[in-house]
Amino acid sequence: MAWHPDPGPPLPDTLTRLRPYRYPSMALAAGLLLAVGVAMVWGIAELKRGITWVDHSYRVISEIDGGQVALLKSESAARGYRRTGAAAQQADYLLIVPQVLEHPDNLVRLTDDNPEQNERARRWRDLVHTRLGELERLMDDTQATGTADEAINRDVRFSRMRRASTLANEMRVVERKLLVQRRATTDQRATQLTMFVVLGTAIPVVLLGLLLTGLLRENGRARKLEREARSAMRELEASLAQRDRLSEQRRILGIYAGMLQSAEDVTEAFSLTVETLEKLLPQAGGRFYTLHPSADIADTAARFGTEAIASADVLAPNQCWALRRGQPHRTDDEHGHIKCQHLDQAVPLAGIWTLCVPLIAHGTSLGMLHVSAHERDGTANNDTTLVEAIAEQLSLAIANLHLRETLRLQSLRDPLTGLFNRRYLEENLNRELQRCARRGLPLTVMMLDVDHFKSFNDEYGHAAGDALLSQIGQTLGSLVREEDIACRYGGEEFTVVLPEAGAGEAALRAEGIRSEIGSTTVTHLRSTLGPRTISIGVATFPADGDTPAQLLAKADRALYEAKAQGRDRVVSA
Ligand code: GH3
Ligand code: MG
Ligand code: MG
Repeated sequence: MAWHPDPGPPLPDTLTRLRPYRYPSMALAAGLLLAVGVAMVWGIAELKRGITWVDHSYRVISEIDGGQVALLKSESAARGYRRTGAAAQQADYLLIVPQVLEHPDNLVRLTDDNPEQNERARRWRDLVHTRLGELERLMDDTQATGTADEAINRDVRFSRMRRASTLANEMRVVERKLLVQRRATTDQRATQLTMFVVLGTAIPVVLLGLLLTGLLRENGRARKLEREARSAMRELEASLAQRDRLSEQRRILGIYAGMLQSAEDVTEAFSLTVETLEKLLPQAGGRFYTLHPSADIADTAARFGTEAIASADVLAPNQCWALRRGQPHRTDDEHGHIKCQHLDQAVPLAGIWTLCVPLIAHGTSLGMLHVSAHERDGTANNDTTLVEAIAEQLSLAIANLHLRETLRLQSLRDPLTGLFNRRYLEENLNRELQRCARRGLPLTVMMLDVDHFKSFNDEYGHAAGDALLSQIGQTLGSLVREEDIACRYGGEEFTVVLPEAGAGEAALRAEGIRSEIGSTTVTHLRSTLGPRTISIGVATFPADGDTPAQLLAKADRALYEAKAQGRDRVVSA
């Protein structure tokens, strides 16, 4: 199945609504800034031109002033010379004349742009030239008439000096007016330029500020989305890892369940479980307890891993909450710390989780699985589920193995007497015989038959006969040793195999059995019945045969002989 990532919350409206205006505003801001630049270049050029014109006016005024001063100086030098005849005065006059000529010339050149002023300047230049002529005449002795004072007074009265001054003043007034105008224009231009620059800069700054804010906000949002995406990615990775882990656990559990089916006995089932738990919970440790048939004590049957807290080797069921309540008992930060008594009471449970799971199958308590480990993040619940699943599988497996063992034993035992049956005898006699043959040891087979049993049945009934047979079986069972095989051969006939017993020892043991069973009674329906005597035929390997069939036949013949001799006796082959 394809995996579709969660698209997450949509982008906020404001961002998407403002986005179309972003590039136009940037273009507008850039355009405005360009315009401001152009305007500044143009404005500065304009200002420079304005300043040039103002400067021009100052130069015009300065030429007028300079011209007037020079003319006055030349006049005073000329008059002085006329009055004193001093050569120094004449020299002064000669020195000043070039300046007197220069200023009007300059002025005519300067006022090229202004026809009216230019016309005045030309007239002024003419007046200045005329005046210089007048002064030269004043200084010329040869033309002098009257005294110097008279000549000077005449000059004062008739000279063009006054007209030149008037014209110069007029030019100055006009130029001053021009100057004021030009200054005002320049000021106005400067103000306009300043305003344009301020506005032209402020608007783009505001626009750029808005854009920047928007960008920052969008950036923040993008970063947040990125963080969310990253954390979603991490979650996904974690859940994928979890899925892998779970599928691996399921695989291990599957293998475990399969192998458990084929376990030969409970020990093998435990060692399979230990191996599986060590694979699934490598951090944990614990043990299995099996409940005794008496159900009052449970023993450690197997251990795995390293326990985080020690648990007792042997425990009484009431020391464990799980065994007491018949359900799993977990301790950790989440489930509380109610500690079972089989755990080390000196160790605090902080930072440790423990789990006791009762092993129950078909309503029967079989034991308990105990696990403990140091706390880890996030895996605790899963671990509980795992351990419980394993406990369930194990319980069923143990129950099945018990059942199988019971069935196996049942198939080998005779239900009436509790002794082995003829099948068991046939399976084991040959093996015992070979074992003794290998080791050069003897083996004895006894055949037993109850005497006149038919009449017992006839007298007390078949049920009473069964009761007596059962009692005889129990007596026989108690008389044989662990390595002997006592079985019900059929009807009221029994067989006992005594490995490693020779003819002499066998005869003695047979005699003991005969006398013991010969005095066995049974209480049936409140009346004591029996005893009934028995006859025994004995055959010994190797003297009487070396195969089970030969030995059984020889023993049977000896039994027949015992019957023939009068019963209640032992006859050796
Ligand atoms: P003897 O062996 O001394 O020659 O005499 P007997 O009466 O015991 O003769 P026999 O061995 O031939 O008879 C066996 C009788 O045992 C037959 C049957 O009534 C009885 N019997 C066999 N099996 C059972 C059994 O499982 N329960 C009961 N109640 N009786 C059985
Ligand atoms: Mg018989
Ligand atoms: Mg008999």
